[in-house]
Amino acid sequence: MDMTPDDFPTSAYIGGTWVTSKDQFAVINPATGLDIARVPNLTPADARRAIDAASAALPEWSAKTAKERAAVLRRWYELILAESEALAQLMTSEQGKPLAESRGEVAYGASFVEWFAEEGKRAYGRTIPTTAATKRYITIKQPIGVVAAITPWNFPIAMITRKVAPALAAGCTIIVKPAEDTPLCALALAKLAEKAGVPAGVFNVVTTQDARGVGEVLCADGRVRKLTFTGSTEVGKILYRQCADTVKKLTLELGGNAPLIIFDDADLDQAVAGAMASKYRNAGQTCVCANRIIVQAGIYDHFATALAVAAEKLVVGPGATAGVNLGPLINADAVAKVESLMADAVAKGGTVKTGGAKDAAGSLFYKPTVLTGVTTDMDIVSQEIFGPVAALIKFETDEEAIALANNTPFGLAAYLFSQNIHRAWKAAEKLEAGMVGVNEGIFSNEVVPFGGVKESGLGREGAAEGLEEYLETKFICLGGM
Ligand code: NAP
Repeated sequence: MDMTPDDFPTSAYIGGTWVTSKDQFAVINPATGLDIARVPNLTPADARRAIDAASAALPEWSAKTAKERAAVLRRWYELILAESEALAQLMTSEQGKPLAESRGEVAYGASFVEWFAEEGKRAYGRTIPTTAATKRYITIKQPIGVVAAITPWNFPIAMITRKVAPALAAGCTIIVKPAEDTPLCALALAKLAEKAGVPAGVFNVVTTQDARGVGEVLCADGRVRKLTFTGSTEVGKILYRQCADTVKKLTLELGGNAPLIIFDDADLDQAVAGAMASKYRNAGQTCVCANRIIVQAGIYDHFATALAVAAEKLVVGPGATAGVNLGPLINADAVAKVESLMADAVAKGGTVKTGGAKDAAGSLFYKPTVLTGVTTDMDIVSQEIFGPVAALIKFETDEEAIALANNTPFGLAAYLFSQNIHRAWKAAEKLEAGMVGVNEGIFSNEVVPFGGVKESGLGREGAAEGLEEYLETKFICLGGM
């Protein structure tokens, strides 16, 4: 209750020790361009030390009962909640999202800690009816061992707790390499974990600008038995290959290209609200953001106008300013990508209905944009926009909508809006995605499985499935009966 964003550490955390380094890198507030802190630029050798620490801590942590581990996790959860305002402010300052969204993410991030503290107690094995009178069969669940986690900047707390909480609940120890743009939230979480009584070496944070070098060490070391990664498909594929030599278990939460289909029998107000929530949250920088809004011909113009009216009401500005609901993009590369996708779309016949340019709020701000006349030859249809641009494609038949939606190597989230339960159900079944929102633009929480199919990844986070990712199943045969 008493911390401020300045009270959180700027040192890395290995083996229960706060680690400094002469070599440091700056953390920049994307709304102002100002340095807000400097953190250690650790090396591959430091990553190896973190693996040493996590390996040393493993026997004692994994030998605790699930109930004992749950008590520690529960304290961590309560400390996160107690310091939620300071954490939210810290997040807005390094990531840029509006304070209301940061507060939401802190609560969302904490929910995984609460959920897995409880769920760890339910890592049940099975007894299996025997096939021989002299034998008995059982399975037990055991922690997989040392885990490495590599996380992105767009959800600097939730993408860490969604991995660390199930790992710790299962009895694993973990090394987190947070994104270079948002290391402070990771260090703040480690500070609160230390306060909660997480033992030295159980949770380590390696801050670095050398993502490739540190990543290579984490993948190559045979003591690390699992890699969990959230980030781009491009980097995910590199890590997948790098983990082959040590045959690690993998969770990959990768990029998306979410379709959001609006059928002509949708409740239009609901569809606009759903599209707004899915598209413009975090300035369009989420892996489940609607990337392609696929609208039936009869309501296309009406929907485009209604969406543009709603988009124009968004208040663009620094996330820390009251009333703002669209913050900056993370960095100059992100702005350049949105500009190049827009230029390509307009050159190929797209029409800017609203927005379509940088915002006067600052160099990293882009106006909420609605683009109509989008066709499948445009790059904006095949690439992740990661910015506040709604790209509207027209369709005629249900079959065409599903074919358009599935015409991508990605398969993370999909959305559809229809008041006809039969049409909605059939479409939900046919969509090639790990998650489908029906008449709903936001669906993620701690009790449901999050993850993708096709090139959007492997495995699931959250829910009972999220704990399974950190467990091995051991079969024991009791013979000589
Ligand atoms: P990214 O460039 O892939 O970076 C993700 C993490 O990987 C960062 O910590 C990054 O470090 C690190 N990294 C980069 N190159 C690496 C390498 N060669 N070896 C090891 N680590 C490496 O992705 P991003 O731009 O941060 O995040 C946006 C992407 O994440 C989007 O595609 C989005 O869809 C996806 N995402 C997916 C989910 C999901 O659950 N499916 C959730 C959120 C985001 P540096 O920061 O130092 O570069």
